Amino acid sequence: MGTESNQWTATPIIDFTNVEANGKSKSMPVFEFPKNYTKAPTLFPNNTSGDINCELCSKTIKISYYIQNDQKKWILSVGSECVTKFGDGLSGKDNVRQFKIDRAIMLDRDLISLKKLIFENSSRIESIGYGKKERKWNSSYANFGTDTASIDAIAKLKEDGKINLLFDTSKKGYNSRSRDYIYWRYVYGAIPIFDYDNYIKTSNSGSSYSKSKESIEKELLAWFTKNEQRGIDFINQFNLYQENSGNSKLELFKSEYLQNKSDFEG
Ligand SMILES: [Zn+2]
Repeated sequence: MGTESNQWTATPIIDFTNVEANGKSKSMPVFEFPKNYTKAPTLFPNNTSGDINCELCSKTIKISYYIQNDQKKWILSVGSECVTKFGDGLSGKDNVRQFKIDRAIMLDRDLISLKKLIFENSSRIESIGYGKKERKWNSSYANFGTDTASIDAIAKLKEDGKINLLFDTSKKGYNSRSRDYIYWRYVYGAIPIFDYDNYIKTSNSGSSYSKSKESIEKELLAWFTKNEQRGIDFINQFNLYQENSGNSKLELFKSEYLQNKSDFEG
């Protein structure tokens, strides 16, 4: 192609999507393609039908990764192994894994911040006499208004699952009015976190039950798979409540995770 290999870099991965293939869920990378680049000339071009191959070495591949040449404004589709020769040397699979780990840590930190916010604003230490102290938790009436239209609106939101997580539906013996209360102690306990930073700190302290970074990351990824959507829902539902409750004491919760996600998708 008349180019030096150092002119080429791996095209960054900015997200991943889960696709169903042969009944199995598979993670597929999403790339940040540069604008107005063309396909690089190659001896092994992919055509639109049939198997795909690495356009560098011609090997048949399952997932395409990409390298780009910013001088020529070219893009080339390559396999998981060939991509390791460019950029940071991570294989395609490792790149997706590292990307997921970064996203999982971001969401974990967000959820810890959200819990902290709730803890600081919705609970306090109170003296209960005889020098004893106890943590007391607030509850908030979350009808978003007391007129019929508002009551109907919150009922609809709950029905659609848009704001059901904040309510402890397992609580029995309450009338329909008190079921519209958010018990912050419950919400605080229900928000999923992994606490990655703390795990790493503990493992670095050299205690006998410390785990390797790799096994912590494996647990983190399992946590992320299980809790990503729930975590996002908690953040969105909290903000929906904040927006509508007229509680000026608390601001909307700014999520780095969701900010990044919308940057990618926007
Ligand atoms: Zn190749």
